[in-house]
Amino acid sequence: SKPNVTKPDSEKLITFDDVAGLDEAKQEIREMIDFLNNPQKYSRIGAKIPHGALLVGPPGTGKTLLAKAAAGEANVPFFTISGSEFVEMWVGVGPARVRDLFKKAKENKPAIIFIDEIDAVGRKRSEVGHHSSGTSERETTLNQLLVELDGFGDHEGILVLAGTNRPDILDKALLRPGRFDRQVQIPLPDLNSRGEIFKIHLRKLKLEDSIDEIAKQLCHITSGFSGADIANVCNESALIAIRNGKEVITIKHFLKAVDRIVCGLQKKSKVLSEEE
Ligand code: ATP
Repeated sequence: SKPNVTKPDSEKLITFDDVAGLDEAKQEIREMIDFLNNPQKYSRIGAKIPHGALLVGPPGTGKTLLAKAAAGEANVPFFTISGSEFVEMWVGVGPARVRDLFKKAKENKPAIIFIDEIDAVGRKRSEVGHHSSGTSERETTLNQLLVELDGFGDHEGILVLAGTNRPDILDKALLRPGRFDRQVQIPLPDLNSRGEIFKIHLRKLKLEDSIDEIAKQLCHITSGFSGADIANVCNESALIAIRNGKEVITIKHFLKAVDRIVCGLQKKSKVLSEEE
C-alpha cells in the first residue's frame, strides 16, 4: 500500500475545533504552522526554522488527530505513515517508502508529514554484534529517515510531526537539532478535557438527555481514560442501545459502556504487569 494522503478538500476538514483540550499543544503547533506559512518572517531576523516535533503521550490521546487538525488549520495536505508498518517489511522497502513519502510531500508543499509510532522504526540502533536481518532493515529505514530530515533547506515548507509514547527509547540521532528537536506533550485528559471530549463525540448521537448533562456525569467516572477510550464509550453505548431495541441512548447505556471499557483497561494492565 502507498502512504496515506489526505487532501484538505477531499473530506470534511478536521481542525483544532475537533480536538478537545490540549490547549498548550495547540499553541505550540500554531507557532509551527506559522513557520510553514510565513518562513520569511523568521529567516528575516536570522531565526532557524524548526522542521520537526515529537508529539509525546500515551496511546489514544489524540496525537494523530492533532497532526491531521494541524494540516486542516494550515490548509495544507497531510501525509502519514506508521512506524509499525516498517516492521516485517521486505528488505529495501522501508527506505523506499520513506523516500517516496518525503518526495510526495515536497511535490505538494507546503505540507505536513505525520509519522505515527516513530519508536517502532526509530528505536536506538543496535550495538555491534546484534544483527538480525529485521534490525538491519529497520536501521536502513531509520537512516533514510535521518537523510530526509537533513535534506531540508530553510524554505522547504515541510513540517514533520511524529507520535510516540516512548521518547526515551528513540535513537539520539533523531533528537538532534534540526530534526525532532522539539517535544510537545500530549497527556491523558483531565476532568475538564474529558468532558469536552465527550461533548465532541456526543454530538453525533441520538440522546435522551442533554449533551451537557451526560458529559458532566461521565467525565467524573472516566478518570484515566484516553480520548480514544471516550470515543469508544460513545460508540459502544449506541450499540448497547440498539441491542436493547432503543432508538435513543440513555444514561444507563452509557454507564454500561463505561463499565465495559473499564474492564477492558483492567485486563490490559493486568496482562502488562504479568509480562513484566
Ligand atoms: P496512538 O498513539 O494509539 O496512535 P493517538 O494518540 O494517535 O493514538 P488518535 O488516533 O489521534 O490517538 O485518537 C484516536 C481517536 O480518539 C480519535 O480519532 C478521536 O476520535 C479520539 N480522540 C482522542 N483524543 C481526542 C481529543 N483530544 N478530542 C477529541 N477526540 C479525541
